[in-house]
Amino acid sequence: MILVCEICKKQFSYPMEQINHRHSDIELDLVPPNFWTIKDYFPEFEIKFLNRKIILPKVQKETKNKARNTPIIRYSENVFLKDESVNPTGSFKDRGMENFMNEIIMHKKREVAVVSCGSGAISIVHYAKEYGIKSIVFVHRGVDDFSLQQIKNADEVFYSDTFVKSYEDFMEYSLEHKEVFWGFLNTNVSYMLGLRSMAYEIIRDMKEVPDTVIIPCGSGMDIIAQNLAFREMYNAGIISKIPKIGVVEIIGGNPIKQGFEKGIDSYLYVIENPTSSKTILSNDTCFNYRKIYDMASRNEAFFISVNDSQIDSFILMNPEIMAKYDYTSISAMAATEEYIKCNRNATIVTVLTCKNRNGGILHE
Ligand SMILES: [Zn+2]
Repeated sequence: MILVCEICKKQFSYPMEQINHRHSDIELDLVPPNFWTIKDYFPEFEIKFLNRKIILPKVQKETKNKARNTPIIRYSENVFLKDESVNPTGSFKDRGMENFMNEIIMHKKREVAVVSCGSGAISIVHYAKEYGIKSIVFVHRGVDDFSLQQIKNADEVFYSDTFVKSYEDFMEYSLEHKEVFWGFLNTNVSYMLGLRSMAYEIIRDMKEVPDTVIIPCGSGMDIIAQNLAFREMYNAGIISKIPKIGVVEIIGGNPIKQGFEKGIDSYLYVIENPTSSKTILSNDTCFNYRKIYDMASRNEAFFISVNDSQIDSFILMNPEIMAKYDYTSISAMAATEEYIKCNRNATIVTVLTCKNRNGGILHE
């Protein structure tokens, strides 16, 4: 597989550690955005789909805790839920971990550093233990106690006062410690390619190709991965149309929708002077701003923003869903309710990306 830097057009063959190629003029808090394109074809990561069977690519060292075959649950006449919370550590991120751990092994590294508010770190810490890799986690003090308990299983944890500071601390550490693998999931290509198995399962398990797949935006990697997978299946003649992805952001913390509507075609678009925790957190999405902007420009993605009161009223009506899934997943449910008002006949799959780690209590 050849990776191309979209900025300088240089080519790199996989595996490469992405931090080794930077363009500091477009970084945010020292962090490079996702300017990586896969050139042509990626045999190492090819998913085969034969007679409705999914054959995942071989890796050097397989995991015992495969993330796959999560259920699709019928929610209403046309709406189905893809429940990613039943993956080994409770989120869709597990799907990328086999690739990610193998990439670390290929680089002959024994340590990985990661910055995360929860699911990403929990997943990495879990899989790193299985692969005998030392995990070093950067978190900010606002992370909920239940997630922190699990993150504490890491070999080393660095606490920062704010979300932004945790990114800066992570980058400073990573640039000084070249012996440690740079575990930045928000732009890691092999991790993203691992996430694609979800779209294949949706096509395998549904009787028809859905019109729309609604996914919480998060860092954007899940959205990019599933769009790539649908495009692959379309090009291979497996499906007759590319489902559109509904990108869910919470109003106030919706930089991609805001930037797209303003027509800002750059690698980074951030909400200026973010004040609430929501806007600060959502700005990490901007590392994939350009990728999602391109999807929306091709009419393969659109934006659904929901506000807190829409989410709260969904929770009031559906307390059992609140107990099972995290706030981000529930924002996707609220977005679905909003979307079906004007799209009654669309077949929709809504992705519930993560379980509720907070003992049934929601938090922001
Ligand atoms: Zn470059």
